[in-house]
Amino acid sequence: MSERVLIIGAGGVGRVVAHKCIQVPEVFDMICLASRRKEKCDQIADELEGRISTAEVDADRVPEVVALMKAFDPKLVINVALPYQDLSIMEACLEAGVSYVDTANYEPRDEAKFEYHWQWAYRERFEAAGLTALLGSGFDPGVTNVFCAYAKKHLFDRIDTIDILDCNAGDHGHPFATNFNPEINLREVTANGRYWERGQWKETDPLERTWDFEYPGIGVRRSYLMYHEEIESLCQNIPDVQRIRFWMTFSEAYLTHLRVFENVGLTRIDPIEFEGRSVVPLQFLKALLPDPGSLGARTRGQTCIGCLVEGEAGGKRRRVFIYNNCDHETCFREVQSQAVSYTTGVPAMIGAKMILEGQWDRPGVFNIEEFDPDPFMEDLNRYGLPWKVEEVGDLAVPDGPVA
Ligand code: NDP
Repeated sequence: MSERVLIIGAGGVGRVVAHKCIQVPEVFDMICLASRRKEKCDQIADELEGRISTAEVDADRVPEVVALMKAFDPKLVINVALPYQDLSIMEACLEAGVSYVDTANYEPRDEAKFEYHWQWAYRERFEAAGLTALLGSGFDPGVTNVFCAYAKKHLFDRIDTIDILDCNAGDHGHPFATNFNPEINLREVTANGRYWERGQWKETDPLERTWDFEYPGIGVRRSYLMYHEEIESLCQNIPDVQRIRFWMTFSEAYLTHLRVFENVGLTRIDPIEFEGRSVVPLQFLKALLPDPGSLGARTRGQTCIGCLVEGEAGGKRRRVFIYNNCDHETCFREVQSQAVSYTTGVPAMIGAKMILEGQWDRPGVFNIEEFDPDPFMEDLNRYGLPWKVEEVGDLAVPDGPVA
């Protein structure tokens, strides 16, 4: 059955979601793309030869979102605006009777805190309303959580450790640019590292710990331990897991720029007074940096994101790497966006499809690993993000296994 879908956010990810939904007309009947600036939606609608409608909405304002939902009457909203809008869009969903999908957890503007408790607090209200809210249906969080659910269901009797590894080996030719929203990216990277071990959170200084990991299709890249939001739900939803860490690669040039920005205060998120105006330094920096949406046409190379999972299967130790490689230029040819937006937008479309097809339409608020991974894994292969499972028993892992 084909349904109406509202997409909120016309950035890099919103463009991919719109392109991919159009490719599945048997599920997505009518699509409306809404964002803070309608002209950005219209530009994407032009690329799609007018096959979607567009609207202007300030998603911080619940009544505006409700009015748009009542006018367009969607069955589901795909929220690919910014994490700041998650709660206002969830409130609007409850008022208008619309199911919900997002790719990043709520974050207050004045504090770089990525935590699920604000959204988990909506569980009973979504359940009572008979609506589904699917949290974190991007790549990481998103596909990485589904990889873990798949490993738990098919590959292991018990999972002991999970290391999520994220490498973007793409080259966009700029001295410095972030490949998704710079404000969100820099808040994430400059936060303390944090991981889960034996039932407790352990903290590190920002980017303090490293691992030279060999990424399939790319080669060895230095990877830095960071906090990432999927750890918070995975440590609750994967029984017995003893340790979960997240690692991401950064080039030397990226890190040098970042250090300078930090040293001069440009990554600060508290407002300062400048010539009689209040300015948030990080937002000012964002205005100076290349728009992530403009990087697609000039980015070459691949991404590789995967989960290194270790545990026991059939009475023996087992370690596998489940991963996807994605090529920037191939993505650009298909949807006019680079691979970072692509690897987020495709799973957002698939998560919405799972709910609309009735495969994942349980009422309540759920993280993606709480659902059956199989139909989602099949769709990853079908819609552009094929994955592989490799046995990597011989690999040396920092700090070894946790028994
Ligand atoms: P962009 O900044 O490119 O796009 C965000 C869009 O949301 C912009 O079009 C922006 O409008 C719009 N927007 C911002 N505020 C509002 C508002 N109040 N009302 C309506 N629209 C608004 O970001 P990306 O496309 O790169 O990322 C989108 C989301 O995806 C983010 O939440 C990001 O954290 C998440 N993400 C998740 C990943 C994952 O793997 N899970 C990976 C990468 C991103 P305007 O153009 O006017 O600024």
